[in-house]
Amino acid sequence: MAVNTEKYKALIKELSEKKVQLVAVSKLQSADGIKAMHDLGQRDFGENYVQELLEKQAALPQDIRWHFIGHLQRNKVKYLAPFVHLIHGVDSLQLLKEINKQGSKQNRVIRCLLQMHIAQEETKFGMNEAELGDTLNAMKAQPEAFTNVLVEGLMGMASFTDNTEKVKAEMQQLKALFDKYSPLSIANCQLSILSMGMSGDYELAIKEGSNMVRIGSLLFGARRG
Ligand SMILES: *Cc1c(COP(=O)(O)O)cnc(C)c1O
Repeated sequence: MAVNTEKYKALIKELSEKKVQLVAVSKLQSADGIKAMHDLGQRDFGENYVQELLEKQAALPQDIRWHFIGHLQRNKVKYLAPFVHLIHGVDSLQLLKEINKQGSKQNRVIRCLLQMHIAQEETKFGMNEAELGDTLNAMKAQPEAFTNVLVEGLMGMASFTDNTEKVKAEMQQLKALFDKYSPLSIANCQLSILSMGMSGDYELAIKEGSNMVRIGSLLFGARRG
């Protein structure tokens, strides 16, 4: 079974009632599975690996909006710049500058989310609040250096644990940052998207204020690899 159609339909209904956007996470899933979900009407798909995304982008319908949700190395931005719809994992000012540079070469404005470090786990990427502040200050101070990016929100990943209280506290920490910084008025930066929640914790994430969820295994089944 490539795609769980019933689950997809139920999820889309639930999310549209709550005005939450779905990014279907298709990393390590087959092109057939993605096509099946495209046939059901899904257009936003999320990938974690640059090479895999490039191959899928070339082979699959051109109306797909590709989200890059993985950790992005600066030297790979140039491959995504021509087509990527939204980069969720911008975790440094240097990376944002590189995205701006490659956006400029493509004559595009590239939409981005700043990834915040909220999990206690060492392995998760993201900025702390001071780095977020530095990034926003840099954009404010030098608007001409950021004309080819549009920072539209924050993204975060809670710890992978059964400890609901811990996950909830991390999500509340991200929501608090979002509420604190979204009223700021900065050129090419308007925080309106909060990308938070995956298969295991999306319901909690929505309760805690997420308006964009990234869901993979719940829809596609287990990943290969
Ligand atoms: C893989 C991944 C997801 C989706 O995870 P599932 O548990 O399969 O829903 C969401 N966000 C990020 C950043 C991921 O890497």
